[in-house]
Amino acid sequence: MTVATAKGACLLCGAPASARCSACASKSGVDLWSCSAEHQERAWPAHKILCGERANPARIPAFSQKEADLAWRRYNQTPAVDSQAEIQEQLKMMCELGTGKDVKAALDDLAAKASRPGAKLSDDEADVVAAIRVMNGSWYCTVPPEHAGKPPYLETFVSAYHSLTGRTSCDDIAADDILHSELCHRLVVHTVLHIQVDRIMLQVKAAQEKGEPMPADAALLKANYDSLRTFVRGAVAQKPDWPFAEPLEANLSSFLTNLGEPVLRKALAV
Ligand SMILES: [Zn+2]
Ligand SMILES: [Zn+2]
Repeated sequence: MTVATAKGACLLCGAPASARCSACASKSGVDLWSCSAEHQERAWPAHKILCGERANPARIPAFSQKEADLAWRRYNQTPAVDSQAEIQEQLKMMCELGTGKDVKAALDDLAAKASRPGAKLSDDEADVVAAIRVMNGSWYCTVPPEHAGKPPYLETFVSAYHSLTGRTSCDDIAADDILHSELCHRLVVHTVLHIQVDRIMLQVKAAQEKGEPMPADAALLKANYDSLRTFVRGAVAQKPDWPFAEPLEANLSSFLTNLGEPVLRKALAV
C-alpha cells in the first residue's frame, strides 16, 4: 500500500490531507483539501457554493430572486412559534429602514440590483441582504426538520463570515488574497457542522448523563473548531498585517464559545 504524502489540511476536520479539489485547483488556482472521501462528500453540499470558478477570489454569492422569493414566502407564512413572528417583524423593519421600501419591493429590488453584472450594493443594502439571509437561515432551526427545506449553508456561511470578520460583504477583497479565499472555504464547509450543533450538543449531553460513549460527530465538531483556530493562528503568523487578522483574533473565541466549544472540550476530555 502506498501512503500519499499529506499536502494540506482537510477543510472539514483539519487532518493532514492529500486529495485536492481539482475543480478549484484548475479553475481558480487554489488548493483545497480533503482527508477522505467521506469528508469530501460531507463538505460538498456547502463547498459547492464556492467551488470551481468561484473558489478564488472567493465572494459571497449575489443575492438571488430565489432567496427573495423564499423570504417573501416566510414573511407571509402564519408563524408557528413566537420566534418566527419576531423574524417577520425584523424583516419588515430591516427592509423599511435599510431601503426605505416595503418588504416585497425591497426584496425584489435588491435581487434585481444584485444580479446586474458588476453591480455593487451599498453598505446599507449589503447589511439588509445579510439580515435577510440570517433570517432565512434561522427559520430552518425553528421548524420541525421535515418542513425546514434546504439546509441553509449559504445563510449560515454569511452569518459566520459576518460574526468573525464584522463585514457583510467581501466585494472589495484583492484577487490575490488567497488567505481570504481559504478563510471563506473553511467557513463555508464549517456550516455543514454549524447547522447541526444543537443536535450534536444534545447528543453529547445525553451521552454524558448516561455514561455512554460520545457521538462520532462530537469529535469531528471539535476537530473542526481546532482546525479553524489552527488556520487563523497560521494566517496571522504568516501575514500579521492581513486586514482580517485583528477581527478574527478578536472574534474567534466568542464565536466558538457560542457553538459550545468549552462544553464539548470538557465532554471529550473525560
Ligand atoms: Zn477530514
Ligand atoms: Zn472545489
